[in-house]
Amino acid sequence: MSTETYRVELDREACDGIFACLVRDERFVEDDTGLATVDPTADGVVDVDQTESRVVATFDGDIEDAELAARACPPNAITVREGSE
Ligand code: SF4
Repeated sequence: MSTETYRVELDREACDGIFACLVRDERFVEDDTGLATVDPTADGVVDVDQTESRVVATFDGDIEDAELAARACPPNAITVREGSE
């Protein structure tokens, strides 16, 4: 299990509100527009920067859940990159 810091990007223009991500990583949540975003108060969320079209978040803890969420997303709206750059 990895405990590194890593970057998660969510392309809200690609997001279709299917919410396959939410059941795989509880740091992803539905916002009031019906699209996915990241809960800044969730465990393992260091930082969230959100615009209408994009969410860029820094997570720490186990990278597996975020990678599972990214793989489960049908339009590939989630990108997980190791490191915080
Ligand atoms: S699984 Fe992908 S398309 Fe579905 S809500 Fe999550 S980010 Fe959006």
